[in-house]
Amino acid sequence: MITQEAIKAFETIHTPFYYYDMDLLNKTLQIYTSLTNKYGYSAHYALKANANPKILSAIQKAGLGADCVSGNEVALAVKSGFPAEKIVYAGVGKSDMEIKTALKAGIFSFNCESVPEIKIINDLAASMGKVAHIALRINPDIDAHTHKYISTGRKEDKFGISPWMFEGVAGLFESCNNIKLMGLHFHVGSQILDMSVFELLCRRIEELQGWFVEHGYPIANINMGGGLGVDYINPGEHPIADFESYFGVINKNLKVRPGQTVHFEPGRAIVAQCGHLVSRVLYVKIGQRKKFVILDAGMNDLIRPALYQAHHDIENLTSQKRKMRYDVVGPVCESSDKFASNVMLPQTKRGDLVAIHTAGAYGQVMAMRYNQRDIAKAYYSDEL
Ligand SMILES: *Cc1c(COP(=O)(O)O)cnc(C)c1O
Repeated sequence: MITQEAIKAFETIHTPFYYYDMDLLNKTLQIYTSLTNKYGYSAHYALKANANPKILSAIQKAGLGADCVSGNEVALAVKSGFPAEKIVYAGVGKSDMEIKTALKAGIFSFNCESVPEIKIINDLAASMGKVAHIALRINPDIDAHTHKYISTGRKEDKFGISPWMFEGVAGLFESCNNIKLMGLHFHVGSQILDMSVFELLCRRIEELQGWFVEHGYPIANINMGGGLGVDYINPGEHPIADFESYFGVINKNLKVRPGQTVHFEPGRAIVAQCGHLVSRVLYVKIGQRKKFVILDAGMNDLIRPALYQAHHDIENLTSQKRKMRYDVVGPVCESSDKFASNVMLPQTKRGDLVAIHTAGAYGQVMAMRYNQRDIAKAYYSDEL
């Protein structure tokens, strides 16, 4: 939670802004890495969740690698000090230029999502006199039971290689001399709190890798992807994701073969809770049936509620008065620019400071200048 000293310091900062609790980030990383070390797992942080330089630096120092979904993310990971041999790169639409960027960097693995992509990576690697390390991103046909926009592992989703494509992939392995198969990759969705999804994924992985082993392609690396969810409802009670249960479920259900390394790609679970969007109340508008709290932060600063109907806990940092029911909205000219409907907040007035919690993942990275609004700046607990 945000301390009284921090709230005092906020008084002089121009709103809206992102505020990062670096102690919480470091504590989260410490618990995460103690568990990956315990189980001998390898982790690659998903840069797309938050690519803020100070955040990346803390994560890189904790020893995680990087999971990228674009050539620019690969370049940023390298620039931020992530060793190339700990960088993985997924994405259904890797352009030639992006592939070349990653080949030059010498990354650990291209996580390939289609047969034509593997062919192009092979050809580009050949033209550069290199061997590309690839993993196959498999579509395991699992429903992550999360929002449809963040489900990625069902057979109708655009991601990954489905079992009926395996014959075609094996054909490529015979004809392509500039690729080396490193392993299999899976990522079925995001904000997953139902551990049975990961349990099912472990069973599907065992079935699916069987095909490769039987056809003479041993699998040295299994990458489980990311997707572990966080508590958006009660962030104060659960500031750190339940890594213990998550790794426990995987350790219990995934059959790891001798010599195999298991990899993870956490994004949200590492950075979501350390970030807050802090805003000031511009107006309180009393309607016939509703009261609107109108903030100076909008959907251009934090788009998750508008894009995924996401819930964020909202706190009035100034008022301790009796609670009332409000809709909390932004200033952008879209009805979807709404952070919450019918939430109970202490009686709120113009000038109050409001924090939107759990905004560290898919928040600042998705900020945009719609309505020509300024991009919110970031401030950190250790620099206030
Ligand atoms: C987005 C993404 C992740 C991270 O997902 P989280 O839900 O934020 O943990 C991991 N791997 C891949 C391939 C991704 O696209």
